[in-house]
Amino acid sequence: MPRKPKRPCSYPGCPNLTDGRFCEEHAKEEARRYEHYDRDPATKRRYGRAWKRIRDSYAAAHPLCEECLAKGVYTPTEEIHHMLPLSQGGTHDRENLKALCKACHARIHAERGDRWHNA
Ligand SMILES: [Zn+2]
Ligand SMILES: [Zn+2]
Ligand SMILES: [Zn+2]
Repeated sequence: MPRKPKRPCSYPGCPNLTDGRFCEEHAKEEARRYEHYDRDPATKRRYGRAWKRIRDSYAAAHPLCEECLAKGVYTPTEEIHHMLPLSQGGTHDRENLKALCKACHARIHAERGDRWHNA
């Protein structure tokens, strides 16, 4: 796959070039700035309080989407994914979690054939 030319970071006044929307530093800053993690009330009902704590601390430790990062693209983490779904015996253990942006999260679930992408 040919690599796209780098573009300047979207952060106003930042001179860094990036493959994504932000340079590494500003992707992390964006991730910190927004509370991405609490938009879905269904999540709270399904996973409860303990999950919120685990998710927030995992997101704080992984402010960048891990899939994008593997490709050298810095995208703020928006959602935390369970690699083995809870419905299949997965847990909230860190080894079972992955920090993802919405696009990567949706893609992973689409590849897996899931109808819903909020697990
Ligand atoms: Zn920047
Ligand atoms: Zn991503
Ligand atoms: Zn998921």
